Amino acid sequence: MEVASVDARRTPRLAVLVAAVVALVAGMAPLATPPAEAWPFDSFCSNQQGGPPYDGFLSHEQVIQRLHQIARSSQGTVAVEAAGTTTGGREIHVARVGHGDTVMLVQSEIHGNEKHGTTALLNLLATLGNNSKASREIREAITFVAIPMLNADGGAVPRRQNVMSWAQIQARHPQLAGVPANPGAWYHNNNLGGMDLNRDFNPDLDYEPVAADLPGNSAGVGFYLSPESRTVRDVYRSLEQEFGRVDIFVDLHNQAACYGNGLPDLVEIDAPSPAAGTYDAAGANFGPEADAVGIRGDIVLVDGGGPNPTEGCGALSDFPAGAIALIDRGTCPFTQKVANAQAAGAVAVVIANNTAATPTTMGGTDASITIPAVQITQAAGQTIRAGLPATGRVADNPDSDFYTPLSISARFIDDPAAHGDWPNFDYDASRRVNVAVFDALQRGNSPFGKVTLYPQNTNLPGTALGSFALRGSAVILFETSGQTQQLGQKRMGMLVKQVEVGVRGIVDAAADGSLHEIDPGRYDQIPLRVSAPIG
Ligand SMILES: [Zn+2]
Repeated sequence: MEVASVDARRTPRLAVLVAAVVALVAGMAPLATPPAEAWPFDSFCSNQQGGPPYDGFLSHEQVIQRLHQIARSSQGTVAVEAAGTTTGGREIHVARVGHGDTVMLVQSEIHGNEKHGTTALLNLLATLGNNSKASREIREAITFVAIPMLNADGGAVPRRQNVMSWAQIQARHPQLAGVPANPGAWYHNNNLGGMDLNRDFNPDLDYEPVAADLPGNSAGVGFYLSPESRTVRDVYRSLEQEFGRVDIFVDLHNQAACYGNGLPDLVEIDAPSPAAGTYDAAGANFGPEADAVGIRGDIVLVDGGGPNPTEGCGALSDFPAGAIALIDRGTCPFTQKVANAQAAGAVAVVIANNTAATPTTMGGTDASITIPAVQITQAAGQTIRAGLPATGRVADNPDSDFYTPLSISARFIDDPAAHGDWPNFDYDASRRVNVAVFDALQRGNSPFGKVTLYPQNTNLPGTALGSFALRGSAVILFETSGQTQQLGQKRMGMLVKQVEVGVRGIVDAAADGSLHEIDPGRYDQIPLRVSAPIG
């Protein structure tokens, strides 16, 4: 999904503050080249969202072919039909399998450069339509409806947005004839000639755009300007009419590859200090990395002279050799602080951030530095400082394992009452569905562990997820780690499989009823996504 602007809001709920600097900008610059030397060779990490490369993913024509193939070999259990047409004339297809009372609607590629979900949906349809006992039982319990590759025009470019000029929007909605292209609708990009379809939804399925509502903003609902969002809306409405409710709505996306499930290092403070505990920490581009054993010592706040002595920008006074230096961020480069500490005999350095943001890898180069340096949050710095004197340890964090292959979320609406009267809104139901996916991906010797939560400060009622959550669907966002230049076919297959296993986890839990037994509070135990260092 990806918030298309830098978002500095924070979620103060967990110990690790997630800066959520969603610099993803997603499809805004899908072909942008990240700093090449910053990628660890053996990692999955880059700044790229969906791709490139896109080789190996299916074209729209291939998706349609495959859908009809699946329908034929299912001998009637999978039904496929065209439900709408994009501005570019591509037919949007809907596939349906099963006839149970629980209704699940799943869509992929609302952002045209986010492609793993489309392949996963096709594989799932083939499985659910086959003649196995498990599939027959699921078909008795579930009605599974899929819209693969919704943004077929954007998918062909490929890019995040659809392909639809402001004039084409006005031709479809003559009542907007007098509305200038700029600003138009806030989520339509006049230069690109396309919109972010995932802002074009409204919980009022009968809504028709009116000039007075434009341009709107991200805290408000969307306007159903596009044929793509209207197709989804029509499918959703017909399911609602048939079943009374769409129980579960799943939206399959990709995010940038460079997210982790925890900071790579830690700082431990020993009892009896009141600050005793473990604090997540980021590392540095210079000096050695802390290992799992770590380095122990007294924790000593530095005095580097000058107006801000704890920033350690000058030679340190009275620093005991063999201690770990605690230094505040600010005024001078990280390398200067660490070099000063090393000169005074420090064995490691802990730098406390000077903003509330999650620490990121400290930049800089200095070949003379031979001690490890880590960065903790501002809050952790204040706690530790208040707990001195203390001893402690700087070490590698054994629980962190970059890179998270998937972030999920149940949360798109801050306050349902802000958008009208939606009595069926059920955040707990959404949280249960998310936990079902988390559990399915952790089971056994799963290679798909390390699932994280997407930033939880998201309030986007104009997303399909937000609008359908207001109507009462349990919703889940999948943000699969992006495919990047470094990742081969094997990784792509693994990421596709991960989406299949995750969605299948919802299907199974809904089919056997265990979904309703899940404690929704477990959702909040899933670790938050953090920005992984790229260096
Ligand atoms: Zn997306």
